[in-house]
Amino acid sequence: MHEHQPKSTPAWHHRDATASDSHTTQTSFFSPGTVQRKPEPFFAKSRHAISALSSQSIIQRAKREDLAIGQSVYFPKKTVIKGWAIEPNTKGIVRLIPEQGDVEIEITTGQFEKETVKVGPGLIEIATGEKGKEEDELEAAAAMAEFEPNERKIGEWGSIWEVRPGIGVEVPKGNESYLEFIIGQLDIIGGTKTGKTMIERFSENGSFRKVKDQSGPYKDLTLIIGQPPERQKDKIKKQFNDNLRVIKTGGTGGRKPSGQKIFGDQRIPEIILHNRPEEGREDYVGDPAKKVKVIPAGITGHKDFYATQPFDVILYHEMVHALVSQLGVSSRLAEIDTQIDLGYKIPEGIAVDDHVEEQLVVGIMGGLGLSFSENAYRREKEYEQRKTYKAVGIEEGSKSKGKLEDSDMDKLSEDTVLQEIYRALRKAGLSEAQALYVVGKGDKPGE
Ligand SMILES: [Zn+2]
Repeated sequence: MHEHQPKSTPAWHHRDATASDSHTTQTSFFSPGTVQRKPEPFFAKSRHAISALSSQSIIQRAKREDLAIGQSVYFPKKTVIKGWAIEPNTKGIVRLIPEQGDVEIEITTGQFEKETVKVGPGLIEIATGEKGKEEDELEAAAAMAEFEPNERKIGEWGSIWEVRPGIGVEVPKGNESYLEFIIGQLDIIGGTKTGKTMIERFSENGSFRKVKDQSGPYKDLTLIIGQPPERQKDKIKKQFNDNLRVIKTGGTGGRKPSGQKIFGDQRIPEIILHNRPEEGREDYVGDPAKKVKVIPAGITGHKDFYATQPFDVILYHEMVHALVSQLGVSSRLAEIDTQIDLGYKIPEGIAVDDHVEEQLVVGIMGGLGLSFSENAYRREKEYEQRKTYKAVGIEEGSKSKGKLEDSDMDKLSEDTVLQEIYRALRKAGLSEAQALYVVGKGDKPGE
């Protein structure tokens, strides 16, 4: 639940092509709902994940003597053979096993389906599960076994843990339960195709921003997940820091050894998400007067939902913001927001760029059908679809006025995500020039 924040932004909120964006919301009172789904068995799951990660015992890499012709195998990691990048979890069948040297695998899924490649047995794994669930679990375990969370100390303050390639969790000393909580949520998210793809995007280190200091603990990270500060009153202004205690995606330049935040130009997306409270306890999101609460099952009292929303869908939503931030889409959208005419009025005080970005993130109005959206994730998890985003002026039944023209259809065909975003922006009502600019493929449209 990304929250929308009026344009009067705090000093740390700044948008440019290199910094990530940040917004926050007015959440307002809505009767707290009931728990719609049983919360995921988080503790059991995450312990399992951690042991799988640290022991590698679940998956045995194939040994030549264990292989048989006709056996089902798969590639646990991205594997480059003769210039082809074979995606993780691509399946195949063993066709030839020489006494030494590479074995021959016929690929049966993905881009190189029906091709035969020669690989060392150490690059493949035996798919022991027959089909369906067992195999899915095996694959999920294989994906987890690939990566071992690593701790990077930040002075006396605490640590940042890289929990998935490129994804760091900030863990102040004494707050270790947060690490386990976030790993558990990422396990849930990573158990879906949509979520797994999303998690893996942050390891695409090539084009994504990283913090300036690549010798420190934030090396190679492209997304940070951390907690809001404790609720406290400013000694001078006599106001609570509630605006810092909303769930949001902002930007960070990392931390100094003292724990002090770095606010440089080179920021990476930072998701602020509260820890799961212990049973019987609760916390507030933002201003307590707005009655949006964090309870062990998730978030209640959000005005877009009657039911309590589980943490995984909330974290996933923020990850989509982090993605569009890393793609530069958010900052360019913000740059041209006053030029955009959507063909209808949005309520006063709501910025056009926030209104449009939420369409992309939620997968609603112009963003309907986006493969990486919150609603795509919800579909896979069998959660109810999100139909509104009241804080940015999206009400039930809101319709966009833009449309796709024939000339749009062949744009950006080389990049699926940007192509999807381009088309969504056109449907939302942006002009061709505006949409091209926002996806980074055109000049800035004239004022
Ligand atoms: Zn949002």
